[in-house]
Amino acid sequence: MRNIFFNSINKSKNYIKHVEYLLSDYQLIRNKHFSIKCLKVLQPLFLNSNIFLTHSATAGLEIIAHLLNIEKGDEVILPSFTFVSSANSFVSQGAIPVFVDIEKEGLGIDLGLVEKAITPKTKAVVAVHYAGHPCDLNRLKEICMKHQIYLIEDAAMAFGNNFEGIQLGGIGDFGVISFDVTKQISSIQGGLLIVNNEKFQKRANNIYHNGTNRSNFTNGIVPHYEWVDVGSKYQMNELNAAFLYEDLNQFLEVLTIRNKLSKIYYKELLPLKNKHQLTLMPQELLEENYHEFYVLLKDKLDRDKCINYLAERAIEAMFHYTPLHNSKKGRLFINNELPNTTEISDRLLRLPLHAEMDEEDVRYIAKQVISYCDE
Ligand SMILES: *Cc1c(COP(=O)(O)O)cnc(C)c1O
Repeated sequence: MRNIFFNSINKSKNYIKHVEYLLSDYQLIRNKHFSIKCLKVLQPLFLNSNIFLTHSATAGLEIIAHLLNIEKGDEVILPSFTFVSSANSFVSQGAIPVFVDIEKEGLGIDLGLVEKAITPKTKAVVAVHYAGHPCDLNRLKEICMKHQIYLIEDAAMAFGNNFEGIQLGGIGDFGVISFDVTKQISSIQGGLLIVNNEKFQKRANNIYHNGTNRSNFTNGIVPHYEWVDVGSKYQMNELNAAFLYEDLNQFLEVLTIRNKLSKIYYKELLPLKNKHQLTLMPQELLEENYHEFYVLLKDKLDRDKCINYLAERAIEAMFHYTPLHNSKKGRLFINNELPNTTEISDRLLRLPLHAEMDEEDVRYIAKQVISYCDE
């Protein structure tokens, strides 16, 4: 029996080729040869934005926290059903995270609750595009404009996903995308910061370059660069950029395969829809589904049993986030009950999805899920 892992890097001989080329010449590294190539592929997705390759999406969120001058007592509204960085980047600078519940359809932040959570101390809202699926961003933008707060898109899982034709991350004041190895397109570790709001574009450059005006120097505007702001070393490593370049070259194929496989999951698991207490991810999300395929089991016990059942059959299925409001650190803040978040995090199961799998693998996994449910 072959192991089917939850995710995989995409297989290509060119990774090695790019790395060999990079190592052949010091100047290529110093001049950021592959970073520049990656930016040429990415910039057309964000026409009027400043984009920055970072060592992680987390780094991008930390830059945003600096740009917003987050201070002690500032409030940031976000879902609890997300990765720790969505909160910690702001909390590390003194912000209070205000967690709101998600909607059961699409698993995005509940916009009615967002509006209720706004206070005079609110600085920003972080919209997490769970599995690459956005909430109603037109409505969220309106809410943010009305209350003069900033909109941050955590599009970590959303490379390839759009809202009204615009790549996610390109709609709010800021966005981040992750190129971690756990995501659909990867530099092994890396990310992209997208600064859409013009007001912040110049300063973002300085914070990104260790708090120096190095980019002015590179562009020949100043004869030498100096310390001008807070900041850190947020850039992507060139080795990672060499990997990313290859993944960007094949991103359409990779996303197409992942999408096709997730539709086969849906079709194969459809017989379970009105049996057992299993819920499939909403069919309308499948049109642009690249990051993951999930189902909801009856409860936590049922979900955990299913994970073990599949593991015994060499299939690596995964739960997802432990809600932040219910974590050791998150409990230190004032929190409301978030019933949907708790329920979804207990019931959610993610099945293997990557471009190194084929249709047969998906049919095999679906068959095992069905036989689990029939037991
Ligand atoms: C993966 C992920 C991150 C973190 O991305 P890194 O590149 O690992 O820093 C942040 N937010 C969400 C929602 C994620 O899924």
